Amino acid sequence: MPQRPERIGVAVADTWDFGLELRSDPATTAARTAVLDKPGFGQAFTDHMVVASWSADRGWHDQRVTAYAPLKVSPAAAVLHYAQEIFEGLKAYRHEDGSVWAFRPDRNAARFTTSAERLALPKVPEQDFVAALRALVTADESWVPPYGSGETSLYLRPYMIATEAALSVRPAREVLFGVIASPAGAYFATGPKPVSIWLSTTSIRATPGGTGAAKCGGNYAASLAALAEATENGCDQVAYVDAVERRWLEESGSMNLFFVYADGRIVTPELSGSILEGVTRSSVLQLAADLGHPVEQRRVSADEWRDGVRTGEITEAFASGTAAVITPIGRLAWPDGDLTIGDHTQDHGVGPVTAKLRTTLLDLQYGRIPDQHGWLTRLS
Ligand SMILES: *Cc1c(COP(=O)(O)O)cnc(C)c1O
Repeated sequence: MPQRPERIGVAVADTWDFGLELRSDPATTAARTAVLDKPGFGQAFTDHMVVASWSADRGWHDQRVTAYAPLKVSPAAAVLHYAQEIFEGLKAYRHEDGSVWAFRPDRNAARFTTSAERLALPKVPEQDFVAALRALVTADESWVPPYGSGETSLYLRPYMIATEAALSVRPAREVLFGVIASPAGAYFATGPKPVSIWLSTTSIRATPGGTGAAKCGGNYAASLAALAEATENGCDQVAYVDAVERRWLEESGSMNLFFVYADGRIVTPELSGSILEGVTRSSVLQLAADLGHPVEQRRVSADEWRDGVRTGEITEAFASGTAAVITPIGRLAWPDGDLTIGDHTQDHGVGPVTAKLRTTLLDLQYGRIPDQHGWLTRLS
């Protein structure tokens, strides 16, 4: 059993003061243990949540940690009609000494600000964003899975929605910010397994000047039909190309794409304005460079991927994102063809470079190797 961490409470630098309304009926130890034994992803939630209100008149107010419960919103709330919504996703990791840490939460806070600007939502001060995570994790610390239980963590989901009851199309004058938390298991119960990717030629995820670089629910709503097409074609995920020339690879809709070349280079599509800049993506670029790989951010066409795999110039491909960390891509399919990527007779099809980056990132997140870049922030 991990040691109980020493509580550090809410950091003094925080400007938001969180009211603490701890529930009198938290989950029983047995119920919580049942969840922690088999967490899955995004299905079970902890005892509490963070909420904060904003109005154009009062600014941010009424920040609280309170019982996890359904929200009361008007059926006329702008979010339900015009999708004025943004979110974030990051994980809290238990270390061997029992302490709980977030990985680069400042990057999520900064991205939340960028997303808010694009969706005409108010900004959450970045230190308060991190304070909200800390307040929730402190209240629900017993929901953070123990160290050594595989790739388990407490997934944190900050979000912001337009709650104003108003059907006129304009930025809402009433908004809710919240954070919920959900124990997360290993994305792949038996170790990473290569996924198959459907190269979408008909659906576009994001357009120049659109919302592709913001983390907003609308992008996801727009991606579901393409995901259904991928599923019909026996694939797990989609890869999107650019809207203009329809040939430059963008991302997979919830993960960024990487290609490993036989000469050791690691290439990822450059941030075109319609790609979401993943925290995992930035971290992989740094870790790959640390490991001595030349890294390139540039345009990569779908043909370069296909030809590279055929000629053996591209030896591995993977996708990166908080939920699945680093996921090997084992197959690429499109309307009139498909290709196998990597050697599936070895290591379950997980290439050596993908495996090394994955282990390095996880070791860092779980505190098993030194945090050279100062990426970890203690939450509890
Ligand atoms: C969240 C997200 C990613 C991955 O970002 P991480 O910060 O690495 O989790 C990639 N693409 C899209 C569209 C996303 O929403």
